[in-house]
Amino acid sequence: MNNFKTLDDLPGDLTGKVALVRVDLNLPMQGGSASDLTRVEAIKPTVLELSEKGAKVLMLAHFGRPGGARHSALSTSMVVGDVEGVLGKELMFIPEVAGPVVEQSIGILRPGDIGLLDNVRFWPGEEANDPNFAQSIAAHGDFYVNDAFSAAHRAHATTEGIAHHLPAYAGRAMERELTALDSALGNPETPVAAVVGGAKVSTKLDVLQNLVGKVQHLIIGGGMANTFLAARGVDVGKSLAEHDLIETASKILDEADHSGCTVHLPYDVVVAKEFAANPASLRTCNVHEVASDEMILDIGPLATEALADVLKTCRTLVWNGPLGAFETEPFDTATMALARHAAALTQEGSLISVAGGGDTVAALAQAGVTGDVTYISTAGGAFLEWMEGKELPGVAALSA
Ligand code: ADP
Ligand code: MG
Repeated sequence: MNNFKTLDDLPGDLTGKVALVRVDLNLPMQGGSASDLTRVEAIKPTVLELSEKGAKVLMLAHFGRPGGARHSALSTSMVVGDVEGVLGKELMFIPEVAGPVVEQSIGILRPGDIGLLDNVRFWPGEEANDPNFAQSIAAHGDFYVNDAFSAAHRAHATTEGIAHHLPAYAGRAMERELTALDSALGNPETPVAAVVGGAKVSTKLDVLQNLVGKVQHLIIGGGMANTFLAARGVDVGKSLAEHDLIETASKILDEADHSGCTVHLPYDVVVAKEFAANPASLRTCNVHEVASDEMILDIGPLATEALADVLKTCRTLVWNGPLGAFETEPFDTATMALARHAAALTQEGSLISVAGGGDTVAALAQAGVTGDVTYISTAGGAFLEWMEGKELPGVAALSA
């Protein structure tokens, strides 16, 4: 359950108070500027709200992997222009995170002004979660706000340690993410369906293990369905499958049985002899009819329809991983159909739909439904660890 404080718990007037705000500004760069500003858009409400309430807002962020030493190419000064563009305000760049330079800068900032400190990972104390390092940063602030869910699976000084030195609050993006995730798996409306797809079982074993104990329907697609089909005695031909994990897959199927979770594997599949767009050897068949020189690249139309029927009976959907090799036509068919179906049910008000994962986010965008599902997590690693049922240190520190 959510028991963290939010910006609503702060006084309405923050004039002159120093807010230390952990944000995600680890932007993808192309030729000196950011190629995607989603992360800046995400933190904008929090930063502007604090600024409008009169706080001096100091943003803390990491940028790339400098490994505890200064690297001019990885200075957060690289993103100042992009961040200013989104926020619509000028930033003061401060080339330190603690000490006299920070103190002097705070003296210069007026209430409502926004500063950006340098890459917190220039200092080894960040990733080591050194309490002295956290304390030295905390000394400059009146309170701490974490708006970087995507970094919450790391117990670092500015994502975890600092929360022990100052009153700590979840920012608006963090609040939205935690509320959405809680409504999907923490405290969901049942029945809950989980769709787990993607390439390999091995990368999502903990996810599967956590889900079988929590959801009523587990729908397995993508390459990982092949390993489960093999565990049920199906010959999957040349398909991507992890034959060394067949026993593990069988155990997960048994656990699901014991906890009343129905596992859905495809009845029919789309196969080809070579992995290429619209190959000559493309055909759809029953899972028992895959030839030894064919590979499964998508789930079939009957399986897709069955899956849609399951979703109609459910109140909540949590989705990670595409159902097929969606980057290549026509192996995107099932994933696109599921995305549109989930979006339609969400728009009708019968389904709460939460999705995450790098390729899943891309697939939803490809289907054109990014705005039509309840919530899309772009948090990557943190989203997966949450799917695994792990407690995220950055979230736990806010709830302490
Ligand atoms: P996410 O990033 O959403 O967590 P993954 O990285 O686990 O998802 O998996 C996505 C990848 O899985 C995609 O590149 C897709 O092409 C691949 N994939 C899905 N189904 C198959 C399949 N049947 N055979 C081979 N690759 C597949
Ligand atoms: Mg991926």
